[in-house]
Amino acid sequence: MTRDSGNKPAAVSAQFDAVVVGAGFSGLYMLYQLRQLGLSAKGFDTAADVGGTWYWNRYPGARCDIPTTDYAYSFDPELEKEWTWSEKYATQPEILDYLRLAADRHGLRSDIEFSTTVTSAHWDEGENRWRITTDRGNEIRCQYYIMASGCLSIPKSAEIEGAGQFAGQVYFTSQWPHEGVDFTGQRVAVIGTGSSGIQSIPLIARQASQLTVFQRTPNFSIPAHNGPAPAERVMQLSEDRDGYRHAARWSRGGIPAELTDVLGVTASEEVRRERFEAAWEQGELFGILGVFADQGVNPASNDIVAGMIREKIRLAVDDPEIAETLCPKDHYFGTKRPCLDTGYFETYNLPHVRLVDLRTQPITSITAQGIDTADQSFEFDAIVYATGFDAMTGALAAVDVTGRGGLSLMEKWTPGPSTYLGLMTVGFPNLFMITGPGSPSVLSNMTVSIEQHVDWVAGCLKDMRAAGFETIEPTALAESGWDVHVQDCAAITLHPTASSWYMGANVPGKPRVFLPYIGGVNAYRQACDDVVSQGYLGFRRTGRGEDECRDGVIRSMQPDVAMVLEIMAGLGLPPMETLSVTDARALMAAAAATRPPGPEVAEVTDGVMPGPGGDLPYRLYRPATADQGPHPIVVYFHGGGWVLGDLDSDDPLCRDLCARSGAVVVSVNYRHAPEARFPAAAQDAFMAVQWVDANAVSLGGIPGQLAVAGWSAGGNMATVVCQLARDAGGPRIAGQLLINPVVESEMMRPSYAENGDGYILTTALMRWFWEHYADPADRGDPRAAPLLGNLTDLPSAIIVTADFDPLRDEGVAYARALDAAGVPVRHVRARGHTHTSVTMVGIVISGAPVRAQMAAALADFFPAPVTGAVSNSSIG
Ligand SMILES: Cc1cc2nc3c(=O)[nH]c(=O)nc-3n(C[C@H](O)[C@H](O)[C@H](O)COP(=O)(O)OP(=O)(O)OC[C@H]3O[C@@H](n4cnc5c(N)ncnc54)[C@H](O)[C@@H]3O)c2cc1C
Repeated sequence: MTRDSGNKPAAVSAQFDAVVVGAGFSGLYMLYQLRQLGLSAKGFDTAADVGGTWYWNRYPGARCDIPTTDYAYSFDPELEKEWTWSEKYATQPEILDYLRLAADRHGLRSDIEFSTTVTSAHWDEGENRWRITTDRGNEIRCQYYIMASGCLSIPKSAEIEGAGQFAGQVYFTSQWPHEGVDFTGQRVAVIGTGSSGIQSIPLIARQASQLTVFQRTPNFSIPAHNGPAPAERVMQLSEDRDGYRHAARWSRGGIPAELTDVLGVTASEEVRRERFEAAWEQGELFGILGVFADQGVNPASNDIVAGMIREKIRLAVDDPEIAETLCPKDHYFGTKRPCLDTGYFETYNLPHVRLVDLRTQPITSITAQGIDTADQSFEFDAIVYATGFDAMTGALAAVDVTGRGGLSLMEKWTPGPSTYLGLMTVGFPNLFMITGPGSPSVLSNMTVSIEQHVDWVAGCLKDMRAAGFETIEPTALAESGWDVHVQDCAAITLHPTASSWYMGANVPGKPRVFLPYIGGVNAYRQACDDVVSQGYLGFRRTGRGEDECRDGVIRSMQPDVAMVLEIMAGLGLPPMETLSVTDARALMAAAAATRPPGPEVAEVTDGVMPGPGGDLPYRLYRPATADQGPHPIVVYFHGGGWVLGDLDSDDPLCRDLCARSGAVVVSVNYRHAPEARFPAAAQDAFMAVQWVDANAVSLGGIPGQLAVAGWSAGGNMATVVCQLARDAGGPRIAGQLLINPVVESEMMRPSYAENGDGYILTTALMRWFWEHYADPADRGDPRAAPLLGNLTDLPSAIIVTADFDPLRDEGVAYARALDAAGVPVRHVRARGHTHTSVTMVGIVISGAPVRAQMAAALADFFPAPVTGAVSNSSIG
């Protein structure tokens, strides 16, 4: 940062318990909490006063975009009583005054050295202390180094050729002159149409004689409808302040809000319009981001909201060509931070305001007089850069930080930031980050996230000191587990599809990693609380002569799988094994009736084939490939423990397999137990495969290109058929896809103990299935327990196992046993999944990549590449 000078105090060499970098919302509250703990602390800020963001960003129109009733501290009830916000979205001066008052109420300024930049922080392993230096020559030793340095505090540099040559005035929205700027009569350029640009452009237009806006990426923005603080919210706060703040802490975004379960894709046009217009009128970010429950994950739903916003832009802007240039079309709504504005789009109707689209007319250079684009030279008196920030990691990277063994933070983070909970990082003991990468931070109401982080750090220090620990540091396993979880959460949303600053895409050379945690403020808080209640899981603490290390991963389940389990637990359904078979089947059928249908295929036909005990119903799925076929055929057996399930139960999965692999899928409904016990199902399955093989041509298949597949008990039958076909000398089976298969009956492997309860398929339910299906004496027969059979000369196999499945270890054992028997086998681990989740097409988004792998491997079974299979990326 360049920034303020001032009266520089003499350099000091001192010792404190903690150094806090930054005196914005985070640093001030951290200093307050450190005092409460009785610790000595020193704060530093480059700025000449408190305020952070609200000290620096003084551009015209600068306001918060979270209602100020919510964008405020909650730790000090007296401050809450003393302060009343004048508007729904307060201005920068008002927020700055508020922070000044907060600092003064608690006498925090005396602990802060202003106009001082922390330049380096080195961990001294001998002393277990940090050595901090500043640009004023301060040298400080401290035990805890706390970066409260802000997510949006390092402006991006201008990066335009000739930027230094301009002879007129240059302003950055993030370093606005304190005395303000009068643009009256001036020709002004604004570069950038992110939040700061969108807030400032209407006000600059009021003064300037000419205003030219240079836009690279059009942004979604909705009217703020600013005015008095919303009456309903003020009333809720005054009636039950504690309840309101509690609800905010346990909400998704940090503001109490009711989440909708209305899906954009299924809602009627009337409901869509009504919900959208209500959110538009409300003028709140979380409102417009939550019109539909699925708009953040489903492109079709997102398009509905985005389309309605574009309609509004076209209505607001008189010139249709300018309106089109202002309409964002290159990213899903919400995947870049949307803006709130007051008269932004209407500003382009003014005769002296002009829009330059940098996509068609890029800037070639900045000259002494103004700006040259490919087509034109512009002359200006002033250029305003509203070009954004090096978000989330900029301020952390700006300090030369070295940890254990001289490890540099920036070197460690070259591939992208890696943290545990966004709070700490391996190799840097006692270094805490407030709203660091991997925490909800910029996706939330930040005041709530800031308070939660500061409270967590304060609690951690208190616990450490009480127990006599001197240092704390995450373990490598915990950190990598959290990094994976952060990316898993992002991967099920549309966010990673955008070139946004959330992805580091606005800074050349910055690694493309999704930086914040998108799982929600509530889920995040719960994870942090769980870490503590599990004895600081994932941390190593030292200092009592011996280390204490509770190694482990706090969240390893896929986030959407966890959500499904939570919803199912909320339904309070009785355990399946306590029901009669009839009731259990009815429950399965009822659940199947409410699911998304799965992808479209070219044709679905039902038929019957002969079976050993009578006709067997089947359903045939033909792929929508460019050619008319013939195609390879996959004979599929549904799951349900030989007792439950039918052609409908696995219908979406069959469609998905068909669409992704480009093969004809024939799903067979075999006889079920207890009506037809072992070996009826196995016999039916074998005969079905023989019949399909014999009738391949009339089914649209390529003779000889036949594979089998099945899920759960269906996986059992698929592989049993392979053993029977080998022994019978045919039919020839090209490969077997076994999804979470049952391959033995003992139920003794560790996964039964680990995952035997709580993940839908339970050990008790497996026992119930076995009791219905086979007598104990039959359960060792290879047609029931194929793991005990002869495994040589079987077709190539793909075995899918899920982490949270009681059957996991038997699937793994089967893969190993096939491999040992010389069978080519590929093991696909469905990371973070349960027995059922991979099959939940259209519900569990994180299952899609696993199904894509399954389908690709399935296609590999067949000699010629399957032509014309639908692109996997087009299937949800
Ligand atoms: C224009 C704008 C509007 C925003 N509106 C909202 C909103 O409505 N709602 C919301 O939730 N969030 C908003 N934000 C995000 C905002 O940054 C946070 O809400 C919050 O103010 C962050 O507080 P902080 O204390 O963590 O960081 P900051 O306020 O950024 O403070 C960090 C301080 O650290 C100092 N610093 C950094 N590095 C060093 C160093 N090496 N040495 C010394 N000092 C250093 C900086 O000078 C800065 O003063 C907005 C951000 C901007 C830029």
